[in-house]
Amino acid sequence: MPIPRARLSCGFDTTFLQLPEKFYQLCSPQPVTAPELRLFNHELAEELELPFDAKEPELTACLAGNLLFADSHPLAMAYAGHQFGSFVSQLGDGRAILLGEKVTADGRRFDLQLKGSGVTRFSRNGDGRAALGPVLREYIVSEAMHVLGVPTTRSLAVLTSGEKVVRSEGALPGAILVRVASGLVRTGTFEYFSARNDEEAIRQLAEYVIARHYPESAENEKPFHHLFAAIASAGARLTAQWMALGFIHGVMNTDNIAVSGETIDYGPCAFMDHYHPNRVFSSIDFSGRYRYSAQGSIMKWNLSRLGNCLLPLFGQDGEAFIETVTGSFEQEFMQLLTEAMLCKIGIEAPREGDSSLLQELLALMQQEETDFTLTFHHLADCLDGDTTPFSTLFHNNTELPAWLERWQKRMKAAEEEPATNRQRMKAVNPLFIPRNHRIEQAIHAAQEHDDFTPARKLLQVLQTPFTEQPEFAEFAKAPKVEERVLHTFCGT
Ligand code: AMP
Ligand code: MG
Repeated sequence: MPIPRARLSCGFDTTFLQLPEKFYQLCSPQPVTAPELRLFNHELAEELELPFDAKEPELTACLAGNLLFADSHPLAMAYAGHQFGSFVSQLGDGRAILLGEKVTADGRRFDLQLKGSGVTRFSRNGDGRAALGPVLREYIVSEAMHVLGVPTTRSLAVLTSGEKVVRSEGALPGAILVRVASGLVRTGTFEYFSARNDEEAIRQLAEYVIARHYPESAENEKPFHHLFAAIASAGARLTAQWMALGFIHGVMNTDNIAVSGETIDYGPCAFMDHYHPNRVFSSIDFSGRYRYSAQGSIMKWNLSRLGNCLLPLFGQDGEAFIETVTGSFEQEFMQLLTEAMLCKIGIEAPREGDSSLLQELLALMQQEETDFTLTFHHLADCLDGDTTPFSTLFHNNTELPAWLERWQKRMKAAEEEPATNRQRMKAVNPLFIPRNHRIEQAIHAAQEHDDFTPARKLLQVLQTPFTEQPEFAEFAKAPKVEERVLHTFCGT
């Protein structure tokens, strides 16, 4: 059903529409009963040069999918994907709709997408809708990730729909997330055409991705080879960044891996509280496929799937090339992760023995189930001689003093002054992360009491994650045992 157009326009320039129609379905969002704008990211709207005034009634209607922006030609993208290792040849935007692409004055291009906007050709048995809980979770976590310096999709707004959605927990308030991405092509988009042996479409898609995300590949004499290697590097950087923050994506299916190198699809994701390398939060990840420590090897596995799709574009020795790239991925990922983890303990110029120093700390953390974020954050304080906040995390562990002594000795041998080292450590070890129990509290207040104040407050605290904020000290604390959230849900 066509929906009315607003006077309001965004300045869209949607290049995805230049691809053949087999890449998408032209379709409109489905209107909702009583939309209300609950969270609006003014800063992001400004950054994207979107001419929005949150008080403008047409804006709420446009973001809810009740009206179409004057220059929007909405579409749902086709994609496939490996879900927990099994291939599904048709997934696609089953509850999301791209409103359009926006280019800023400095030439950056963004997709503006609604999530929870109604059924499309790709909805299968789903209702096309989203519940408020997962929508709030995605808004909070994606914005926190951005501030923490991790490439990610971003969140522009949350609207409640005035309608209920039925999930296993019962009837829940429905919501729409307005999401922004530098691009929404996934590994699964390539897999969609690969499964259909459509070499021409794979070429068109690869050319699209080069033009949009990796223009330097176009300059190379083997653009598709260069593209694959560039996507591999972006994936290595991203995964290392996740892990250095204790982040677990939770559902790294190939349909949830953007070729842009941005984190996408915050479903059952979580920041780890107490450390364990095999930590899993997702309630459906029974085998631990997407556990914390497996994320590098999963990203590599996903990369091989992408390589196989691109094979027809590689020509001779394509298989060997895929092997080379996945091999370099592993090396680059391990190197970046080691560097990032060593930086967390204050070591910028590694020497022999540093890796074992790090491994020993991680083993102690695992033994004592210390909080991942606070352990690293408080280690920096030990440089001033204030070892108490750090040591208390370890409950008088008898091996800790010897480790601390070795580390302090190592830091004295570093080139820089203690104050500089401390500053460097604090700059990579946040104090405030979107903790699960805090997110749950924010969701509970919104869902049960229609109160978005806790969500707003949490978002505010997370805006300066590296800075002490004494008035918000509670938000830095690890959950008490009874507050721990052990499982997160996909939200579908
Ligand atoms: P996800 O697990 O959220 O990455 O989604 C996997 C696939 O299921 C994608 O094709 C989604 O569009 C689709 N999907 C998830 N939830 C719904 C829903 N409520 N209605 C329709 N499709 C959905
Ligand atoms: Mg998905």
